[in-house]
Amino acid sequence: MRVCSLCNRLSQMEKRCPACGLLLADGGPVADYYGPYSPYMSRDSIERIADPRCIHLFYCPHCGFDTRECAPETEV
Ligand SMILES: [Zn+2]
Ligand SMILES: [Zn+2]
Repeated sequence: MRVCSLCNRLSQMEKRCPACGLLLADGGPVADYYGPYSPYMSRDSIERIADPRCIHLFYCPHCGFDTRECAPETEV
């Protein structure tokens, strides 16, 4: 079975803020914020939901930049 390695704390994403270079914090799965069919999701995000992988929100604690990334999966 494949699980989201971020939700299961198996690994960390090391992404850096393009504006200030700090490590982005993992805000958790995007579904926790909006639900899968929210009108607030961009078209790009809706297409990504067709991908079964878990999508996480990453944010910069310094400048507030945020981005959504497909989380890596781990075979368990
Ligand atoms: Zn996840
Ligand atoms: Zn930043």
